Amino acid sequence: MNTKFDVIIIGAGPGGIFAAYELMKLQPSLSVAVFEAGNPLEKRKCPIDGDKIKSCINCPTCSIMSGFGGAGAFSDGKYNITNAFGGTLYEHVGRENATDLMKYVDTINMTHGGEGTKLYSTSGSEFKKKCIQSRLTLLDASVRHLGTDKNYIVLDNIYKEMKDKVQFFFRTPIEKVKKLDDGYEVDYKDGTASCKYCVISVGRSGSKWMKTVCDDLKIPTKSNRVDLGVRVELPAVVFEDITNALYEGKIVYQTQKFEDSVRTFCMNPHGAVVNENTNGIITVNGHSYEDPSLQTENTNFALLVSKHFSEPFKDSNGYGESIARLSNMLGGGVIVQRFGDLERGRRSTVKRIEEGTVRPTLKATPGDLSLVLPKRILDGIIEMIYALDKIAPGTANDDTLLYGVEVKFYNMEVSVDDKLETIYPDLFCIGDGSGVTHSLSHASASGVHVAREISKRIG
Ligand SMILES: Cc1cc2nc3c(=O)[nH]c(=O)nc-3n(C[C@H](O)[C@H](O)[C@H](O)COP(=O)(O)OP(=O)(O)OC[C@H]3O[C@@H](n4cnc5c(N)ncnc54)[C@H](O)[C@@H]3O)c2cc1C
Repeated sequence: MNTKFDVIIIGAGPGGIFAAYELMKLQPSLSVAVFEAGNPLEKRKCPIDGDKIKSCINCPTCSIMSGFGGAGAFSDGKYNITNAFGGTLYEHVGRENATDLMKYVDTINMTHGGEGTKLYSTSGSEFKKKCIQSRLTLLDASVRHLGTDKNYIVLDNIYKEMKDKVQFFFRTPIEKVKKLDDGYEVDYKDGTASCKYCVISVGRSGSKWMKTVCDDLKIPTKSNRVDLGVRVELPAVVFEDITNALYEGKIVYQTQKFEDSVRTFCMNPHGAVVNENTNGIITVNGHSYEDPSLQTENTNFALLVSKHFSEPFKDSNGYGESIARLSNMLGGGVIVQRFGDLERGRRSTVKRIEEGTVRPTLKATPGDLSLVLPKRILDGIIEMIYALDKIAPGTANDDTLLYGVEVKFYNMEVSVDDKLETIYPDLFCIGDGSGVTHSLSHASASGVHVAREISKRIG
């Protein structure tokens, strides 16, 4: 194996993929290697079949989170073209440039199987006014919804175009990054490889490893926030006015009681609620398909509150993990509760859920979320459900289902400059692993940005 490359990219999520893709286009003669802890796309299979294997068996690398396509491979494929959420890439590369990079990513997706998918936009939406009247703010965005099925096709097509021009090493987690006199060396189980330019793009699943790299190389970092809350599931018709016009409405509410911000996140019209496994902790998420035959009669979305700890306790993610563990302890996994039961201060039971009008799309344990979520967070969520009820009547119905807990962990922020370069020349850190991005579009855009920078240096 050739162990000397011009560029080594660690991680084949959207950040790493778009860095490799852009380098292949701009500098075809460059030798580029991508090291990925997980499997190629077609070999990414979670062993849970609901029959022989019912719950997580902690595989060495999780096929849901790792492998070609990264955490986004089986996601809903919503590419939000906006600086209003999804990361702070614009703080590093400038607002206009960040938007242009995201638009460029969209053109690549559209020429690799995403053709014909709809681009939704909030601009000129009548919902803005309706939201303001209920203390709600609708954030500006254009949303390309690929859907889980098309997202997979796009990734497959991009891989096919790259596989003979970029060297991929799957099932090869990098253990160490070392600084050489001119360039970098990366160590893996059976060997080492070296390069002039190194791009680290290890996403959320690589967050703990990323910390060891920063500690070893003394790269400065900052703690980040954690988002905690529930996933709401209700009949799709309740949110249809919003989802038909916008697909996903990113709405923020300021609570009257504590002036906290509660926000909607990851809206899935006609979608399904799913389990998510982060380091063995089961939390909840959602997705939906573009193909009508795979759609459900429900819509789901998360309601989240951000918490950021700095002094003396700094571990925002640890706080989120503890709350998720508590819900796993009480429910053996995800807990589901009817909104009416929560309001009446009683747990949900199998019977009460069965008697309700909303058919749950995830098998979860009926229980009581007030025993899990801190009061302040839960009060904010309840207030927002009533505010949403004004723009989408039916949201606060007794039968609306709440699944918990949903936790969005964010990586610590790695200190990078406007080129997404660390304090070491030619060592870049991009995507969710850098803490700068937390979305498909921002992570992908960060990959393109760094590839263009490397190409410029090569000339
Ligand atoms: C269920 C789900 C649904 C989502 N839906 C959406 C959505 O609709 N829209 C949206 O914008 N975002 C969504 N997201 C978030 C989105 O997937 C991420 O923001 C995005 O994938 C980040 O890209 P990335 O390349 O930075 O990291 P990742 O996608 O996490 O990829 C990092 C890769 O690095 C690999 N890796 C880690 N450590 C190492 C190592 N030491 N050596 C080698 N390889 C390593 C991992 O195996 C992984 O494949 C979703 C996430 C999940 C989990």
